Amino acid sequence: MAKTAFKAESKRLLEIMINSIYSHKEVFLRELMSNASDAIDKIYYQALTDDSLTFNRDDYYIKVIPDKENRTLQISDTGIGMTKDEMEDNLGVIAKSGSLAFKNETELEDGHDIIGQFGVGFYSSFMVADQVTVISKALGSDEAYKWESEGTDGYSIEPYEKESVGTDIILKIKDNGEEVSYDDFLDEQGLKTIIKKYSDFIRYPIRMDVTVQQPKEQEDEEEEVEYEEYQEEQTVNSMVPIWRKNKNELTDEDYENFYAEKRYGFDKPLKHIHINVDGSIRYDAILFIPESAPPDYYTADFEKGLELYSNGVLIMNKSADLLPDYFGFVKGMVDSEDLSLNISREMLQHDRQLKTIAKNIKNKIKSNLKTMQKNDREAYEKFFNAFGRQLKFGVYNDFGMNKEDLQDLLMFYSSTEKKLVTLDDYVSRMPEDQTYIYYAAGETIDKIDKLPQTELVADKGYEILYFTEEVDEFAIMMLMNYQEKEFKSVSSGDLDIEDEDDNTEAEEENKEVFAAMKEAISDKVKDVKASKRLKSHPVCLTSGGEVSIEMEKTLRNMPTGQDINADKILEINVNHDVFKSLQDAYDNDKDKLELYTNLLYNQALLIEGLPVQDPVEFTNDMCKVMV
Ligand code: ADP
Repeated sequence: MAKTAFKAESKRLLEIMINSIYSHKEVFLRELMSNASDAIDKIYYQALTDDSLTFNRDDYYIKVIPDKENRTLQISDTGIGMTKDEMEDNLGVIAKSGSLAFKNETELEDGHDIIGQFGVGFYSSFMVADQVTVISKALGSDEAYKWESEGTDGYSIEPYEKESVGTDIILKIKDNGEEVSYDDFLDEQGLKTIIKKYSDFIRYPIRMDVTVQQPKEQEDEEEEVEYEEYQEEQTVNSMVPIWRKNKNELTDEDYENFYAEKRYGFDKPLKHIHINVDGSIRYDAILFIPESAPPDYYTADFEKGLELYSNGVLIMNKSADLLPDYFGFVKGMVDSEDLSLNISREMLQHDRQLKTIAKNIKNKIKSNLKTMQKNDREAYEKFFNAFGRQLKFGVYNDFGMNKEDLQDLLMFYSSTEKKLVTLDDYVSRMPEDQTYIYYAAGETIDKIDKLPQTELVADKGYEILYFTEEVDEFAIMMLMNYQEKEFKSVSSGDLDIEDEDDNTEAEEENKEVFAAMKEAISDKVKDVKASKRLKSHPVCLTSGGEVSIEMEKTLRNMPTGQDINADKILEINVNHDVFKSLQDAYDNDKDKLELYTNLLYNQALLIEGLPVQDPVEFTNDMCKVMV
């Protein structure tokens, strides 16, 4: 039988699986159970909503068949099955293609990270098997097919006989090595333990023929008891979905297993929220706040949403209406008896009950995040590093409609605390004479630390919030104020600091110098003036209007390339020695004044991280100063 080669990335992944030294190889069973359960979800839903199908709840189950002698483990499900094309598409290619691209070679080598973080579904079978056979018959199809592979050299597909719809997966379990034993995967007790640990909450029965011993009937009671063995089919899992269980009976590990089993993410959840509501609208929900953002989170490819169940039957994989965009990172599920099975997507959008549930969920997430912020700052910082940007967009988007909900969840790096702080932290320690919440925008914390514009505010001992993300200033502009305190950029025209050195005199005295300087760069700046904020630096740029220099940068970098310019003001430190040279040039050599002004302007641009418009001219000017 001719073999088809795997796609390159799939092949690489298979190699990793085959050579894996991952210590929890047993997770392969969780992955197969989860696939089987998904397949049954699909057929079960069809049977419930399609009148032409008759069904019986007992028809839906998973069966595990170990065979010690032949070293095979079979897992059969009565799910929706796969057509030949689906086998090609689903088993020949890794589903989450691209997941390897994020890893470097050393991380790939030991496999820990790959399996731990990405979970790798079906392919994880190759951690324990040297041959994998999949026999499947799809719902509505007369033909069945057999897919088979021994690993990296490819797979074959051929027609096969199978009576009922569903899928059988047969693993040829590896021989034991010197240090590793695979016998647990062939042993009833071993398998039972693994299923209980990872798949107890699967809502369909996982059945297995188990050997039971029973005392033989005896005529003479004095005689030693003899036992007889027989096989009995048992259901190994408890089947009660985790969301119906009592919170007190569940451990963190149970929730983590559920998160992994459902493939909500491949990290560990930072927090779970279990909700049982038994009021006028009844629903159960389990929500997770992931620890890290999935690689595609901040891209258009990302789809938010929660799984939606109607009385235990999955009716939608990603119900987007249940989550506001700004909490789009939340994973999990909602089950409500009050939703109709046949409800269409369009109807769901307008469903009053769903709206109520969505609102409750939103409030729950918010209050849980707030509690985490208050009681477990470390965890909250982790969360914020992953999803803070999302919250800031939430403040800005929809014309600031949600800013009240979100403002307390924001955090920014503080100049004095040297860590992330909340706005409430900031305001509660503001000295009495401080009117504004000061912030400085720049690319990185280090760069902002060195910004000349921060000098006066920092000298006064005031805390400054550092805005290192493009969205920060836009979000703050939307917020306008927090607890009635307005935000003010350290680069803005008027800082309102009492002991600002009064430079009106210097300004007045040197009126002509400034006018001549402005003349020299009138096409570039709105004004040149004596600085009130500079202490040791000679020069800086500030902005006069609504648009700050950082915002100008952001707007310019947008795909639509908006050419909105900040009103730039070149501020000169009149107490700096450079200013003496400027005065001197004004008195004796106007060309020199023009040269110096251009140089200072370009320096100020560089400090701001803005491009120098004409680098050649700039370097020529530098040379003129040297000769
Ligand atoms: P994932 O489940 O994360 O998509 P897998 O590699 O485990 O990744 O499976 C790939 C796809 O193969 C599944 O999405 C599903 O469409 C199909 N599949 C796997 N196992 C089964 C099964 N037992 N029955 C039907 N389809 C299956």
